[in-house]
Amino acid sequence: MNKYDSQLHQQLIDWDKQYVWHPFTAMLDYNRCEPLIIEQGEGSYLIDMEGNRYLDGISSLWVNVHGHCRPELNAALIEQINQIAHSTLLGLANVPSIKLAKKLVEITPPGLHKVFYSDAGATAVEIALKIAFQYWQQKDAGQYRQKTKFISLVEAYHGDTIGSVSVGGMDLYHQIFRPLLFNGFYAPTPYCYRCPCGQSQDNCARECLQHLEKVMEEHHQEIAAMIIEPLVQGAAGMIVAPSGYLRRVRELCDKYQILIIADEVAVGFGRTGRLFACEHEQVAPDLMCVAKGITGGYLPLAATLTTDEVYNAFLGEPWENKTFFHGHTYTGNPLGCAVALANLNLIEKNDLIGSLQPKVALLEEGLTKFHELVHVGDIRQKGLMVGLELVQDRETRQPYSPQERIGHRVILEARRRGLILRPLGDVLVLMPILSMSLDELEQVLSITYASIKQVTEGRPGSGE
Ligand code: PMP
Repeated sequence: MNKYDSQLHQQLIDWDKQYVWHPFTAMLDYNRCEPLIIEQGEGSYLIDMEGNRYLDGISSLWVNVHGHCRPELNAALIEQINQIAHSTLLGLANVPSIKLAKKLVEITPPGLHKVFYSDAGATAVEIALKIAFQYWQQKDAGQYRQKTKFISLVEAYHGDTIGSVSVGGMDLYHQIFRPLLFNGFYAPTPYCYRCPCGQSQDNCARECLQHLEKVMEEHHQEIAAMIIEPLVQGAAGMIVAPSGYLRRVRELCDKYQILIIADEVAVGFGRTGRLFACEHEQVAPDLMCVAKGITGGYLPLAATLTTDEVYNAFLGEPWENKTFFHGHTYTGNPLGCAVALANLNLIEKNDLIGSLQPKVALLEEGLTKFHELVHVGDIRQKGLMVGLELVQDRETRQPYSPQERIGHRVILEARRRGLILRPLGDVLVLMPILSMSLDELEQVLSITYASIKQVTEGRPGSGE
């Protein structure tokens, strides 16, 4: 452990407040409190400057796979950095990006044969949108040129660049930017706890899919692609789609000649219990975006995969201008690709996906106890993704007022008890590191339970 230096600690606190603008953070409120400064990571734990240890209950924003400071990943990084840190992919190749592309094609759903790299989930989405758009412009001598729009779900979140915000639907984040965005079509989110079609789970006849089909039927000639977060809409509050929903979306896209973009940024690399969420419903998308877990939580890297059919529309002589004119300086960065490859090899070597099943079952079982908490309105889980929706009144499902900041208060309580969480509004998110042990998962559950009970009922949970 590092030696504690209280002067340095205070200096960093001051500089953090003075110089750093934190993402998705209300800075006025943040600056009123003492920031928690993480200095080290070890397995499932984050360690602050004073040596306090916290279970990483959100996998450092949904990215960590094998734990912090994993020797195999550290070694891959060091080995690569001794070769070269970066060379461009614009017109040149590098060793790790070739090997990783081959690996990604082998492990992703069938038909995805080409890999376009970038560095964040949002850029992977941006690229998918631009590829889908340009594909229809160039396909069959431009006879589909009017297919220029996208369809997405009302509560969608696909990142923060202008293109990805344009296909997003979360008013809280996106409303202010409306004047900057391109128009598209929206279909209702299958949010069964608060059904947008006014149905209950018992009498649901999949009205949300009927709405989707109606939009497609009326506008398919203008629609290039549908973008979707397969199975779980993460940032919207871990909204789990009903079984069969994704498969039906794929069928509708086929019926109306619309490409489907699977945004696996949050759900990919084991999160839902399978390597990719699309596998649960045997869906092969036309484009797929991956990021977050691709490097096991080490470096910013993303990829957009697509089919030969899409790729071939971009083939032509240089002067025919069919080229995809898009790229980032660090596209295909060798360090990111090398550590991603090591991450994927470790997933296979340790049979990570097989090892998840008892963990998923433990969570499922442990979460049943949360029904005892009178302010837990809905419990949503898919694999190692959990959303606990806190409500003022469970009978009427009335939310808390935003001023109560109930989710925020619960995560501060959890932090005091040694667990790092981050809420999405009033939805508490549990995204444990995939390699967490069963004991650690039990601790995540018991601290979460006690923290909710303390904050919402004013008393500590039983079992303490
Ligand atoms: N798509 C989805 C489904 C996401 O959950 C996120 C991030 N939470 C993104 C895209 C954007 O990824 P990034 O933050 O790496 O740009």
